[in-house]
Amino acid sequence: MIKGIGASVGIAIGKAIVLPNWEWNVPDKLVDVADLAYEFEKLYEGIQISKVELETIKEDISELIGEEESNIFNAHLAILEDPVFMNEVQAIMQRQYKAAEVAVKETIDKFVGMFDLLDDEYMKERAADIRDVGNRLLKHLLGGFQDTLPDQDDPYVLVAKELTPSQWTHLDPSKILGIVTIMGGMNSHAAIMARAIGIPFVLGLDGKLKRPIQTGDLIILDGEEGTVFVNPDEETIAHYRERKEIIQKHMERLEQLIDVQAITQDGKPIELKANISSVKELEQALKTGARGVGLFRTEFLYMDRNSLPPEEEQFEVYRQVAEMLHGEPLVIRTLDAGGDKNIHYIDLPQEVNPFLGYRAIRISLDRQELFKTQLRAILRASHYGHVKIMYPFISSVKEFKDANQLLEEVKKELREEGQPFDEQIEVGIMIEVPAAALTADLLAKEADFFSIGTNDLVQYLLAVDRMNEHIAHLYDPYHPAVLRLLRQTIEAAQQQGIPVSVCGEMAGDPKVLPIWLALGIEELSMSVKTLLPLKERLLQSSIEQSGRVFEQIMQCTDSDQIRNILDQCYNGKERYGPITN
Ligand code: PEP
Ligand code: MG
Repeated sequence: MIKGIGASVGIAIGKAIVLPNWEWNVPDKLVDVADLAYEFEKLYEGIQISKVELETIKEDISELIGEEESNIFNAHLAILEDPVFMNEVQAIMQRQYKAAEVAVKETIDKFVGMFDLLDDEYMKERAADIRDVGNRLLKHLLGGFQDTLPDQDDPYVLVAKELTPSQWTHLDPSKILGIVTIMGGMNSHAAIMARAIGIPFVLGLDGKLKRPIQTGDLIILDGEEGTVFVNPDEETIAHYRERKEIIQKHMERLEQLIDVQAITQDGKPIELKANISSVKELEQALKTGARGVGLFRTEFLYMDRNSLPPEEEQFEVYRQVAEMLHGEPLVIRTLDAGGDKNIHYIDLPQEVNPFLGYRAIRISLDRQELFKTQLRAILRASHYGHVKIMYPFISSVKEFKDANQLLEEVKKELREEGQPFDEQIEVGIMIEVPAAALTADLLAKEADFFSIGTNDLVQYLLAVDRMNEHIAHLYDPYHPAVLRLLRQTIEAAQQQGIPVSVCGEMAGDPKVLPIWLALGIEELSMSVKTLLPLKERLLQSSIEQSGRVFEQIMQCTDSDQIRNILDQCYNGKERYGPITN
């Protein structure tokens, strides 16, 4: 068994096909001065063909994975137009009399080497982009090699050193049972694409294989555990076949719940909404029966590009999402850049503690033009559906009022221009900083609604970086401090009579559900994949029983006890009696 990183859940069992490296061998080649003009012509033609190819790919793939995700290819197009990259190529040709392909290869190696040296996931992704688009250009300069896999009738497990977006476009996803790559990260484009389509994916096997995987090897991969088996024994195969079947059956059972109303056994309806970051995710959310979007993470519109998304482009996306929801609510969170969400062209400062630094609403209040452009786009989209605005990372009443003042300025502009928008648009606050939670009584007087971002709230309350694997065991949503702060926040909202929902990962964790039910939460927003498992649990729950569980866990001094009680409660193992359907 080899342990990698699970990047997209699911089990795959099948024969491996190893994708050849898309790396061309480019021997050093000098040219005569007289031939330089021809080399330049070859270069420009190669660039032109690559651009046309990328445009076509972008269009084709956007149908498959959605428009925003396919913006990856905009980043590739931008590299082909990047003056720094191209000047370097031309300088090598002109000064050293090297053939176009040699100059391109040397430039790729130089830039990739530079970016790879930086200890930054985002920059490493950019290095992969340069390598990918550079190899595409090289393919044309060297005479257009075949870069597809031979036609496969049988589905297979794809194995690659690294899977680039360009390689991905040459594959037929319906034939791919699962993917294993040696390199790559959770946030690589390949991982994002695999999750969007629902293909199990394990990556990060570098240095862990005793021998390279070969085409024809039998592979088992478990995208949840992040494990891979190469030519496993019969017993392992039987075990995973069975597991796959159980998961499949459970999925089928869950699918029957799509149209079932989300209601507790004692009759309390709970709104289950989706967290999305793209149109593609919304499509999946709607298929899964989500009743609206409780969190639209807009920062992904700002990523994988080289400049800010213009108002019109943002408006089109927000409007499309609002319309697709047919009147169900859509909570659009304004830009939450900074922390781990780096947007390279925004020029974020190098910070010792980025999570405590220049991020989210702090950037928006500082870069007012950026913020106002987004607010204009959201307000204009509000004419087409039930749109609400939510500010991330608010830590004081003043910050909320400052943001609202800019919102008012934008509303005034739109009125003067005669642009329609929802005059009654609700404006809410994400409660994810302890200062906001502790002043929830004050904020509730100003805001139309709260949504609790437990991912950040837990890290700031417990002083545990949510990205740091060395202290991952201390990141503890069941900590008594977390439960107390949640109770206080929710009660403050209730006393003021404003709706409060939860949109951090805790919202979709079935084990936590009794806590929400006991505290009177009526709306939970979660990642799409947890919607149905949570609904299944909700249908087995009651407010009354949850209240008793909550009273008990509030007496506990540590989170292990709390976890135990919650486990027992849902195992149907006695303590509170079996939970029936
Ligand atoms: C949160 O902090 O709980 C949240 C939902 O926001 P994000 O995960 O995008 O920081
Ligand atoms: Mg957050």
